[in-house]
Amino acid sequence: AKADGRGAYHFFERAMDEQLQARRALELDLRRALQAGEFELFYQPLYHLGDERVTGCEALLRWRHPERGMVSPADFIPLAEEIGLIVQLGEWVLRRACAEAANWPEHVRLAVNLSPAQFRDRGLVRTVVSALAASGLPAQRLELEITESVLLQDSQANMTMLHDLKALGVRISMDDFGTGYSSLSYLRSFPFDKIKIDQTFVRDILHDSDAMAIIKAVLDLGASMGVVTTAEGVETQAQLDALRQQGCAEIQGYFISRPAPASEIAKMLGVEGRA
Ligand code: C2E
Ligand code: CA
Ligand code: CA
Ligand code: CA
Repeated sequence: AKADGRGAYHFFERAMDEQLQARRALELDLRRALQAGEFELFYQPLYHLGDERVTGCEALLRWRHPERGMVSPADFIPLAEEIGLIVQLGEWVLRRACAEAANWPEHVRLAVNLSPAQFRDRGLVRTVVSALAASGLPAQRLELEITESVLLQDSQANMTMLHDLKALGVRISMDDFGTGYSSLSYLRSFPFDKIKIDQTFVRDILHDSDAMAIIKAVLDLGASMGVVTTAEGVETQAQLDALRQQGCAEIQGYFISRPAPASEIAKMLGVEGRA
């Protein structure tokens, strides 16, 4: 039995070793990619149902890997967060997105995702100020999207930074609303400008009356708090119609447009794209 135990232990150790090596390889690859300029931003339109036009675009990070092709952020952002590379990567995202969005029509805002790990960087507010100044994008046209983990970890320091960002005139959106443990209390803790209802609710809106009831409740809540509510992941006309009927002001999803390269978005917005 002892020998078996040792065998299992060695097997386990080897598996751990391989996992660590794979991780280490990805880590080196990520650092190299940032230097090599393999990251790129796609943008997905936010569509205003009342105005019937695009009123914003969300920047979504892509990694154009020389061998693996287009890598999804879900496959590398968690590691970039863990090793702290997200700070540099996030700064690149902010600067690049602000520069690209500065060419869009004035009524089109830019939404940028911030990971909780970026709040560990004391220079975050300065980075935002500098990205705005360098691009000429007015602060009012920038929306920063955060998830509730930003206020769960180190909440006092993060809260101070959020207030500083808001004081610049930047808008703060709560992303993936309804998926966390304490979305509601989180909503009370900071004056968010926008709530983005997670796509899991929107997906089920037509066949699950509970999902519809929750969306209705969030739309009512947003309205009475004076907060814009956006529904994410709208894929069909039927979902759009149901959301419009419930008074939802803004939607985002494949039905309007998939995330697209900056040049395509510029064309869609009727401005000359800078390659
Ligand atoms: P997210 O911020 O919730 O972004 C929305 C995700 O839903 C995007 O996935 C988008 O492509 C996808 N999506 C949009 N419309 C639809 C739809 O109609 N149906 C379906 N099934 N999906 C839709 P993506 O681009 O793979 O990004 C995944 C996540 O990675 C993002 O979720 C965000 O949390 C993170 N992320 C992306 N870019 C950045 C970034 O620059 N910085 C940070 N910190 N995180 C990022
Ligand atoms: Ca987002
Ligand atoms: Ca989201
Ligand atoms: Ca998400």
